[in-house]
Amino acid sequence: MSLTSAIVALAVGVILPVLLSTSLGIVRLASGGKSEDIVFGVLVLSFAAAAFGSAIVVTVLLGKRARVARLQADFTANISHELRTPLASIRMYAQTLQMGRLDGDQKRTKESLEIILRETEWLEAMIDRVLAWRAAAGDREQPEMKIGSMRVAVESAVARFERMVAPGEVDLGVSIECETPVLHDVDGMGSLLLNLLINAYKYSGSDKRISITVEDLDDNVEISVKDNGIGIRKDRVGRIFDPFYQVDSSNAGGSSGVGLGLAIVRHQARSHSGEVYVESEEGVGSKFSVHLPRAIDTKKDE
Ligand code: ADP
Repeated sequence: MSLTSAIVALAVGVILPVLLSTSLGIVRLASGGKSEDIVFGVLVLSFAAAAFGSAIVVTVLLGKRARVARLQADFTANISHELRTPLASIRMYAQTLQMGRLDGDQKRTKESLEIILRETEWLEAMIDRVLAWRAAAGDREQPEMKIGSMRVAVESAVARFERMVAPGEVDLGVSIECETPVLHDVDGMGSLLLNLLINAYKYSGSDKRISITVEDLDDNVEISVKDNGIGIRKDRVGRIFDPFYQVDSSNAGGSSGVGLGLAIVRHQARSHSGEVYVESEEGVGSKFSVHLPRAIDTKKDE
């Protein structure tokens, strides 16, 4: 029996007896001048109320379990799809090379090896996402906080992203307009920015223009990633940072995702006492901005 049918059976199995005993209790109370009628009526009504309350609690708990089970099933299906796509491509190019079909064609051999390496980078990024979420959800992170400019984190995310995309596939602009010190974990910030770059890539059409900018903003440093992609419907924007939430992006180039990227981004931003904001317009593009407080510059990054 599925959890949903168990919930329905429980609701039906309890509602009828509760209704009957409630009516019985009311009748005894209404008809009773005698004290035993009143006591009996009150007892029956209390029993009905307790049964009804317990049924509600059990239904809510079962409903929660059903939702978690559904999320787990969706997650397993989505992550398998995410991992299979680059794997299939790696296998195909490796087999082509193994069969010697490209022997003597240096240009295509080099292109095939580059594709294999790019797909490997995607696989690694997907696995990192899942591990980052596991660490965040289990509070198992051990960030190495240091004071320094955002340059190293931005440059490492950009370098990793560039290894994931074909040369010339993305028009990527990087503008580091300030070196203001921020207390941050370079790896954590690097993975936050890589997640935003990956999304900017996934949710854009074939003419991909992405920019990443670091600038001063009052007491904060703002790091933003802007794209000219499909944008996000206004009524969905409020939920995109929820774990496992995915907008139905049928025009997202076949990418299904697992709904963890932005949950990790928000978690990372908050664990740096910062916040993440989004501005988006459907069909025009999106801008995700992370605001981090400037560090009180007492200790310098070596
Ligand atoms: P995933 O990309 O794995 O689905 P995320 O948590 O990274 O999960 O994103 C949640 C949802 O937000 C995505 O399903 C997508 O619809 C939307 N989204 C995220 N980034 C962008 C973007 N740059 N442009 C348009 N939509 C986006």
